[in-house]
Amino acid sequence: MRLIDGKLVAKAIREEIKQKVAEAYELYGKRFSLTVIIAGEDSASQIYVRNKGKACEEVGIISDTVVLPESVSQEEIEKIVTEKVKDENVDGILVQLPLPRHLDEKRILKLIPPEKDVDGFSDSNVGRLTLFSDDALYSCTPHGIIKLLEYYDIPLKGKHAVVIGRSNIVGKPMALMLLKNDCTVTICHSKTENLAEITRTADILVCAVGKKGFVTADMVKDGAVVIDAGINRVDGKIYGDVDFDEVNQKASYITPVPGGVGPMTITMLLYNTYLAGIRKVNK
Ligand code: NDP
Repeated sequence: MRLIDGKLVAKAIREEIKQKVAEAYELYGKRFSLTVIIAGEDSASQIYVRNKGKACEEVGIISDTVVLPESVSQEEIEKIVTEKVKDENVDGILVQLPLPRHLDEKRILKLIPPEKDVDGFSDSNVGRLTLFSDDALYSCTPHGIIKLLEYYDIPLKGKHAVVIGRSNIVGKPMALMLLKNDCTVTICHSKTENLAEITRTADILVCAVGKKGFVTADMVKDGAVVIDAGINRVDGKIYGDVDFDEVNQKASYITPVPGGVGPMTITMLLYNTYLAGIRKVNK
């Protein structure tokens, strides 16, 4: 079994982004910038936003965080997003979710044009991914998983990939990206019958369920590549969706939690911000 080291890969990709950002500054005199909009007091969101800001600084991307009170009105937040959309100096916009309950999240996200949608969640970016179009910005977590597979030279062409989970931010875009990379893809979800029978046929098994230790050794084929996107907090500790101690004895490659998929998500957000910026410059 080989461990897929997300921290190592994230570091290498962040170094590459840093160089590209510096090159772009030399060539065009332009610093790329990310605006993060956060509303309310959710402590996990505040930590994520702080980490995003720090990561931007490390690679030379300007990060601007707009902190709004829990009580912010729909009108106020829409006004701020619209201003950032119009601002030529802003390359990427990210609205940190979840938003306070009284706000209409969908309406706010719809204001962000695909070119600035660095989360890759918009209808247009998902549509572009579905069409395998080159101008999409991809959802960060599944894109990070593709980068991990590429870094370890794991062959994808013709392989059977099984994705457990069909959410809009992980499962579905993951399945599309694997399909784009010539895998034969099966998507499983909570209504799937005979799940273990299907997962046992996977050459590549991606788990995005959100249940600690959900995937056990009997669900995995010998030599499979097992990717665990799960982040499950139990008694202050983080666990994946995969029972690592059991499954690592069967897998050829496996991601640990923490330290596998996790570090790739912010890394791909940096990449998307760079991409959004450089595309604008080259337009
Ligand atoms: P969701 O809750 O949106 O989706 C979970 C998916 O798992 C659903 O499609 C659901 O099926 C499926 N599921 C639930 N129970 C079962 C079951 N018994 N059998 C088969 N499928 C099942 O979660 P997310 O996709 O947002 O996140 C998944 C995990 O990834 C979470 O742990 C989350 O914390 C983590 N995550 C990690 C990120 C990172 O940066 N590493 C980023 C984003 C998420 P159905 O659709 O039928 O309900």
